Amino acid sequence: MRRFCVLILSLIICSLAAAQTDTLATAPPDTLHQPADIVPDITFFAKGNGAPVDTLDVGDGRVQIVLKDDNTWYLIKNVSMLADDDLFTQNWREHVVNPYVGTPLDSIPYRVTICLVDSVSRFVCPHQGKVFSKFGMRHGRRHTGCDVPYPTGTPVYCAFDGRVRLAERHKGYGLCIVVRHENGLETLYGHLSRMDVIPGQWVHAGDLIGLGGSTGRSSGPHLHFETRYCGHAFDPEWIVDFEHGVLRKNVFVLKRSYLSPYSRYVPESIDDEEELYMTEEQIKAEEERIAKERAAMKYHTIRSGDTLSGIARKYGTTVSKICALNSGLKPTTVLSLGRKIRVK
Ligand SMILES: [Zn+2]
Repeated sequence: MRRFCVLILSLIICSLAAAQTDTLATAPPDTLHQPADIVPDITFFAKGNGAPVDTLDVGDGRVQIVLKDDNTWYLIKNVSMLADDDLFTQNWREHVVNPYVGTPLDSIPYRVTICLVDSVSRFVCPHQGKVFSKFGMRHGRRHTGCDVPYPTGTPVYCAFDGRVRLAERHKGYGLCIVVRHENGLETLYGHLSRMDVIPGQWVHAGDLIGLGGSTGRSSGPHLHFETRYCGHAFDPEWIVDFEHGVLRKNVFVLKRSYLSPYSRYVPESIDDEEELYMTEEQIKAEEERIAKERAAMKYHTIRSGDTLSGIARKYGTTVSKICALNSGLKPTTVLSLGRKIRVK
């Protein structure tokens, strides 16, 4: 009886062991440890010479990442998404230099922060050179840009990425191109001898948009370059150092006062830093003071027989004071008829 029981127990253990072997044999293979015969032959991509291999969207799709075969990447803008942006649809007229009609100066904030360049936007100086005629009043007339010497036929480069809004002949500007940029600014290139772009065309900073010349009201070959915000011109030298061909800053705080035709670039000082902390009331008071000063400015149009000393006597001032108020005017300067000079 005891021997029979041991036999039965042995049979039960054997059948359990057999069942366990069966279970192991039918289980799915461990996916982390695949048999050697089905492991793909993995070889790493050879490092290429930087050719783009794929483009991926980032966020809202305005910016994309381009992957390159040398395992590096760069960011690009998806311009097709910008086409619907208000910036490129509102106040968009292809035959008007200033389409922002109805945007008076006092509707613009006291200060506007403008991001000039970032990781996907760069700047290229339209032409490196010393500005020979600055922004501001010139011979009693407004000069809404700055002039850089520019032999006819010299390439003109677009300053920032953007879309060409105007490219045609204008009376004073001659052959003229206006480009609107994503930072909200417009740049204007005047007196060209050739235009290589058409309205609506997307352009990048550094693209050749035309050639320099002397068309329109021009005294000789030069580039007349303007920067505008909401149609109001401001001195381009606030942002561009033409002599070195570089931007002065990546982020620009545009003060409303810069949009006055009398405002000219001055190298930044501690006063400017302090102005950043002024209250709106203080800025308003300062603007009123400047406006009063401007209202007190007096101009005289040169007539036959006028001399500087005679003009100085007439307005109760001195020849040296008049010369200080008019750039390039010297006591010996021959006064041309019709020229407007500032006397106060
Ligand atoms: Zn000019």
